[in-house]
Amino acid sequence: MLPAPFEYHAPTTMEEALGLLDEFGEDAKVLAGGQSLIPLLKLRFASPAHLVDINKIKDLDFLEERDGTLRVGPLFRHKSAERSSLLASRYHVMADAAPQIADPIIRNRGTIAGSVAHADPSGDWGTVLLALDADLVLRSRSGSRTVKAREFFSGPFSTALEPTEILSEIRIPAARPQTGGAYLKLERKVGDFATVAVAVHLQMEDGKVGSAGIGLTAVGPQNIEAEQAEAALRGASLDDTTIKEAAALAAEAAEPKADQRGSVEYKRNVVRVFTERGLKRAYERARGGG
Ligand SMILES: Cc1cc2nc3c(=O)[nH]c(=O)nc-3n(C[C@H](O)[C@H](O)[C@H](O)COP(=O)(O)OP(=O)(O)OC[C@H]3O[C@@H](n4cnc5c(N)ncnc54)[C@H](O)[C@@H]3O)c2cc1C
Repeated sequence: MLPAPFEYHAPTTMEEALGLLDEFGEDAKVLAGGQSLIPLLKLRFASPAHLVDINKIKDLDFLEERDGTLRVGPLFRHKSAERSSLLASRYHVMADAAPQIADPIIRNRGTIAGSVAHADPSGDWGTVLLALDADLVLRSRSGSRTVKAREFFSGPFSTALEPTEILSEIRIPAARPQTGGAYLKLERKVGDFATVAVAVHLQMEDGKVGSAGIGLTAVGPQNIEAEQAEAALRGASLDDTTIKEAAALAAEAAEPKADQRGSVEYKRNVVRVFTERGLKRAYERARGGG
C-alpha cells in the first residue's frame, strides 16, 4: 500500500521544526529514522497531513558524557550505539541491547529517541532507559521539560509527548566505578522483536548493591520497571538468595499475555531466569569482568 498524501517538511534548525509542530499540532509527525513511522504510513495506520523530517538539522546525532550525565541526541542511531566504545566499556546494558535490535538495515537508520517516542511495548530501548533511570528532555516552542523514563510511558504506543514536542535529549546518570549491566533478549529468530527481554543495571558500593535498575520488555502494555525487585536489591549483598528473590519479584511484575510466542507461565519464567542471569552478568562486569 502507498501512504496517504502528506506535505513533507525538512527544517534545518530545531526552532523551525518546533515552529512547524506548533503550527500543525496533531496533524504533524516527526520523522527520525522512519523505521517505525514509514511502515505505519504505508499500512495507513497513521496518515498525518505533515511530516517534519528532523534529519537535516545539524548536531542532533550525538552521544557524550558531560557534567555527570550521558547525553543521547535525537538522531543517535542504533548502529552508532552498537559501535560505541564508550557504551561497550561503561554502559553495558546499552551495548548489549543495540546489536539485538532488528537487523543491520534498520539499525543503520533507526534512532534510540525514535524508538522511545514510538513506545512499542516490545521495543528494547525503553526498557534499557528504565533500568538506567533516564530522564527525557521534551522540547516545544514554548520551552522544555524533563520527564523521568518511568513517567514517560503511559501504555502501548502512548507517552507523555505532546504533538508539539520533540524528544530532544536523553539523559542518563554517568556510570560510576563498579557499575555493570546486561540485556538479555529471547527472540524467535535473529532480527525479531523480543518474546521477552530483561535489562539490568547495577551500581555496587562497598560490596553491596548501591542501586539497581531492572526493566522488562514485551511482557505488558508498556515497558515495565520491576520496582519491587530493584528495592529488594538496594543495600543487599548479591548472593544467590538475593538474586533468586529479586528474580521472583521481577517475574511477578511482568504482565505477559499468551500468544503464538508463548504462554503466560512461560514468559514469566523467562523473566525470572533472565533476571537471575542478568544480575550475575552485571555483577561480574561491575567487578571488572567481561
Ligand atoms: C522489521 C522491524 C523489526 C524491528 N525490530 C525491532 C526490535 O527488535 N527492537 C526494537 O526496539 N525495535 C525494533 N524495530 C523498530 C526500530 O527500532 C525503529 O527504528 C524505532 O522503533 C523507531 O526509531 P526511528 O528513528 O526509525 O523513528 P521513526 O520511525 O522516524 O518514528 C517513530 C515514531 O516516533 C516519533 N519520533 C521519532 N523521533 C522523535 C523525536 N525525537 N521526538 C518526538 N517524536 C519522535 C515519530 O513521529 C513516530 O511517531 C523494528 C522495526 C522493524 C520495521
